[in-house]
Amino acid sequence: MVEIQEVLKEAEQVGVLSGAGLSAESGIPTFRGKDGLWNRFNPTELATFEAFQEDPKLVWKWYIWRMHLIANSKPNPAHYAITEMEKLFPRFLHITQNVDGLHREAGGKKFVELHGHIFDGKCRFCGKHYTAEEFSELFPIASKTFLKSITEETLKGEVFRKIDEGELPFCRNCGEIVGPGVVWFGESLPEEAIEKAFNFAEGCDVLLVVGTSGVVQPAASIPLIAKRKNAVLVEINPQETPLSPYCDFVFRESASSALPKLIGLLKR
Ligand SMILES: [Zn+2]
Repeated sequence: MVEIQEVLKEAEQVGVLSGAGLSAESGIPTFRGKDGLWNRFNPTELATFEAFQEDPKLVWKWYIWRMHLIANSKPNPAHYAITEMEKLFPRFLHITQNVDGLHREAGGKKFVELHGHIFDGKCRFCGKHYTAEEFSELFPIASKTFLKSITEETLKGEVFRKIDEGELPFCRNCGEIVGPGVVWFGESLPEEAIEKAFNFAEGCDVLLVVGTSGVVQPAASIPLIAKRKNAVLVEINPQETPLSPYCDFVFRESASSALPKLIGLLKR
């Protein structure tokens, strides 16, 4: 039987498709946080343009609360392993559905973020996109550096009070309130990112599917596109997924345990 390291050593174009499982061991809570503060809200009702138009203060408080959790998390060994993979293959792309940006913090450069980046800003009224750096100037209380420096108590006290008093990011372009740079329910994915991901998948020798259930479209079709073009599919997931039957190699373990092991094998 061919071993995975042999397949990877021959590969020139390697992709990683990742989901929430990649960041699970960084302590990033799933979408439905357990915080009592938000129990009475349904996240699918907060992450929409309609909710934002109705109550931008509430939606921003919820996002800043999430951003605070993310700002105080760290990349785990799986993120660093993916950064190392960038250097091992002539062509590499990390296609992620995560908005936490921990792959950036781990030094990753070759990535596309299908669902955006939570520290960016996006004006839904005029379409202007703010990078995390630009957005932290426009809305300092949502900057990662600031959120890293404060306690949850300060967040729920002082910061939420500022939002209640009207401290919100107003677009430099059109004057409307800017929202977070993530894809909301009912919105389409950034075209450029999805195109890059699909094109890359078509030419992949190997695609690693890491910590994603493979049910959310259109990301779920990426492995199938790669498979159709004869790519070797590798699944890294503690649980079986609808994609499992299509995979050539399966690792039933967490990303932070399997990926560093793979890198070790490649370097041998
Ligand atoms: Zn605008």
